[in-house]
Amino acid sequence: MSPPVDRVQDDAALPAEADVVVIGAGIAGITAAYYLAQAGKRVAVLEKGVVAGEQSSRNWGWCRVQNRDEREIPLAQRSMEQWEKLVAETGADLGFRRTGLVYVTDSPSELATWQKWVDMARTYQQHSRMLTGDEARELTPGNTQSHRWIGGVQSPSDGMAEPAKAVPAIAEAARRLGATIHQRCAVRGLDTTAGRVSGVFTERGRIAAPVVLLAAGAWSSMFLRRHDIDLPQSSVRSTIFATEVAPQVTPGGLATPGVTIGRRRDGSYIIAAANRGQIELTPQGIRYARKFWPTLMERRKSVTWGFGGSFFRGPGAHYGKWSFDKPTVFEQEDMRTLDPMPNTSIIPAALAKIANSWPDFAGVKIRQSWGGWIDSTPDAVPVIDQVAAMPGLWLSTGYSGHGFGIGPGAGRLTADLILGKPPIVDPTAFRYARLVDGSPIRRPGMF
Ligand SMILES: Cc1cc2nc3c(=O)[nH]c(=O)nc-3n(C[C@H](O)[C@H](O)[C@H](O)COP(=O)(O)OP(=O)(O)OC[C@H]3O[C@@H](n4cnc5c(N)ncnc54)[C@H](O)[C@@H]3O)c2cc1C
Repeated sequence: MSPPVDRVQDDAALPAEADVVVIGAGIAGITAAYYLAQAGKRVAVLEKGVVAGEQSSRNWGWCRVQNRDEREIPLAQRSMEQWEKLVAETGADLGFRRTGLVYVTDSPSELATWQKWVDMARTYQQHSRMLTGDEARELTPGNTQSHRWIGGVQSPSDGMAEPAKAVPAIAEAARRLGATIHQRCAVRGLDTTAGRVSGVFTERGRIAAPVVLLAAGAWSSMFLRRHDIDLPQSSVRSTIFATEVAPQVTPGGLATPGVTIGRRRDGSYIIAAANRGQIELTPQGIRYARKFWPTLMERRKSVTWGFGGSFFRGPGAHYGKWSFDKPTVFEQEDMRTLDPMPNTSIIPAALAKIANSWPDFAGVKIRQSWGGWIDSTPDAVPVIDQVAAMPGLWLSTGYSGHGFGIGPGAGRLTADLILGKPPIVDPTAFRYARLVDGSPIRRPGMF
């Protein structure tokens, strides 16, 4: 069941041409569209479903620098600033607030990993605070299990935004700057002239454009395969659930062993059970198994494996060389917005765990649960780059479970690169070639 997401006004008439066509209206596509429109470009955003229908409304809403891969830290820091600037520039309600995030643990090895990260991050002027056991207990008042905490880490400048509101509000702001947004308008494929991009074929006709940005989330790899462009990508199915309004146990995000909770502005909570992601076998998964193997082995205890309908349908399935003149998988009604079944079997245990830790929580009801496919690259760092083999084609994808918080910074970086402006951060870490040129794939940092 899809979480509620604010609706965005649709632009019915498709332009015949645009300076930049953006494929996908998640946070990656919408933020890039916003900055490109701000720079005066004629931008058309094409979305097969609705704005933020997939990952960008299904996430926890955490916006953090804490525990990020070192390669992403500068972009994550800039992104936190961009969130604030977006609030000021658009005057829109994005739900962004620097609540601070707290992680507590009873595991010495986890604590040591966080300490290492905090020492490394200091070189980026990121001042997270290691917590003693006593401090961890103080920051989790009312928690009957807090005697177990041997310590933790707190990132006071991190925070949260409201996924159901943020991307639709930025989309409306992009429209006010002149971008057009076309929902229920799938892109079937790219048009090329002499090896470079010259437009897109959509279900409502062709749009000419010298630049196309693919920000198609979990669908990016499949879309590119149609054009013989390789992008190693895999997906993990994740489940989260939202409670009714409940007593405050944390003002922001709190990660405890086993359960992660985030307080929403209305006083309800988003809850997720740690280490319960599900990987389903798909043709795409088999194709890229070697590239993902080291990461999978390292993370094998934090996921379960399965086989299901996603082998035959959806972004991981095999579709071969489809035609651009006929309806495609993107237009099939149940594919317009990927809405995977949540794994509701994990909910009672997670709720019991919370009620055991916070007796005040006992009896709190679940209002809704939903699933989401989290797309990932083998090194868990996104690609923000042009495809050298097809000039004019840009990628902003592979956000590996943390693209919401980094989204505004990533959108700004993408726009800078397309516009040929000095980039907001050094983009080297996000090169596309690193995943396909045969060089060893770097180990991912913390998720
Ligand atoms: C359960 C869960 C929890 C998460 N928690 C967090 C968190 O707390 N913090 C954080 O930073 N990140 C989190 N994430 C990750 C974050 O949500 C994603 O990294 C981010 O939203 C990815 O944005 P995107 O724009 O790349 O993709 P998406 O939001 O998936 O958008 C891609 C869009 O492209 C469209 N599309 C695809 N193909 C086509 C086509 N051919 N034509 C037209 N449109 C097309 C799709 O319909 C979709 O709307 C979480 C994700 C999940 C699922």
